[in-house]
Amino acid sequence: MKFGGTSVADAAAFENVARIVAAEREALPVVVVSAMSGVTDNLLAATIDSDVDKAIASLEPTFRRHHSVATKLLPASQAEQFVEQVSSAAGRTGELLRRLAQDPSERKVLQDAVLSVGEMLSSALLAEVLTHGGIQARQVDARRCIITDEEHTCAAPLMGETFLSSQNELRPLLEGNVVPVLGGFIGATTRGVTTTLGRGGSDYTAALIGAALGAEEIQIWTDVSGVLTADPRVVPEAQTIERLSYSEAAELAYFGAKVLHPKTIQPAIERSIPVRICNSRSPGEPGTLVGPQTETSSRTVKAIAHKTGVTTVQITSARMLGAYGFLRALFEVFERHRTVIDVVTTSEVSVSLSLDDASSLPAIVEELEQLGTVRVEKGRAIICVVGEGLRGTPGIAARVFSTISDINVTLISQGASSINFTFAVEEDQVKEAVTRLHEALFRTNKRHKEHRQ
Ligand code: ASP
Ligand code: MG
Repeated sequence: MKFGGTSVADAAAFENVARIVAAEREALPVVVVSAMSGVTDNLLAATIDSDVDKAIASLEPTFRRHHSVATKLLPASQAEQFVEQVSSAAGRTGELLRRLAQDPSERKVLQDAVLSVGEMLSSALLAEVLTHGGIQARQVDARRCIITDEEHTCAAPLMGETFLSSQNELRPLLEGNVVPVLGGFIGATTRGVTTTLGRGGSDYTAALIGAALGAEEIQIWTDVSGVLTADPRVVPEAQTIERLSYSEAAELAYFGAKVLHPKTIQPAIERSIPVRICNSRSPGEPGTLVGPQTETSSRTVKAIAHKTGVTTVQITSARMLGAYGFLRALFEVFERHRTVIDVVTTSEVSVSLSLDDASSLPAIVEELEQLGTVRVEKGRAIICVVGEGLRGTPGIAARVFSTISDINVTLISQGASSINFTFAVEEDQVKEAVTRLHEALFRTNKRHKEHRQ
């Protein structure tokens, strides 16, 4: 059971987590927790501040937030002990920040050490709160479980070592009916130096631990009701999707932070462990289960995702016709400028692609102009229709385009995964397009439901 930062934002949230864990007690859960919301950001900001005293002072409210949860939820003696723990963590953090200011060459190593404080404290606090609530729980130092390479700030776990250490650390506790509570996101090298897995890495920790233990299910508790059929800000009647395949979830990942990152759940995929996305504000709901694809769903389309603020670029050149090496030259321009390309389509003499981050665009365009005529369109949106059922279901494209026949569509792509259908529209038409598509593609399903009731 992994709880994100918003699930442990304050005392009430901690209490809520304790209730959710208690309800799963029989299943022998392992709990993975992020830092309290905003804490990682604050710690990171402190490592960047050039004025060390100011940086240290800036963290005071962050540490106090932990105190306040402890004093609200724990009996005096237990709270006092924890407050002491926080004070010594604050002292250590201050020292690390001073060292960082003196020796910037060690920046990444020290930054990892500073950031790890957030998860160490949230996991210690949660273990205390659980214990006080009558659940036998113990904090486990995640750095004894997640063993990584030495790429500080974005370390990669060493699978063999991580699985073995996690089993050794956690199994005895589980056998003794104790709930292990560990911080997500952090690990250590084989020499024991603290590392982190990259921002948002707690989901990855949960997947690693789940895979190591052969868990029945990995639960990601967050503040939304699983994955929805569309963005509810645009389509208020969007519904939670009951089941997604790993591939469908991967296609949707680009469209919102709320969906699991494909890399994150790789360890779960390799062991076919289902991942459930649950809402800690509404724990009774089943959420969305992401798992191996069992049968082709009756629902052809699972979700309509979209993203605004996209720029499309079209490069046209007669030189492309029958030539080789052209695409490489073109993609190398983007590589040189470290710019991620999202959707690509090609014809005989032109290539269209979409970008999220257009900050290097002027320099990119200058280089691209040596390859052909370049046309840039800003203020676009990408719409993506996803579902395993799109494989071999005829007529989807016709339905999509007839629904929005009066809206200008560019950059159409279906080829690559065959479970998604992606295209660009002008940004100010995206709401209209998504609303109409949701109505058209999910209406039959809704009727079906009403009929059954
Ligand atoms: N606390 C870390 C972050 O904010 C890791 C996580 O929350 O997953 O990036
Ligand atoms: Mg977070």
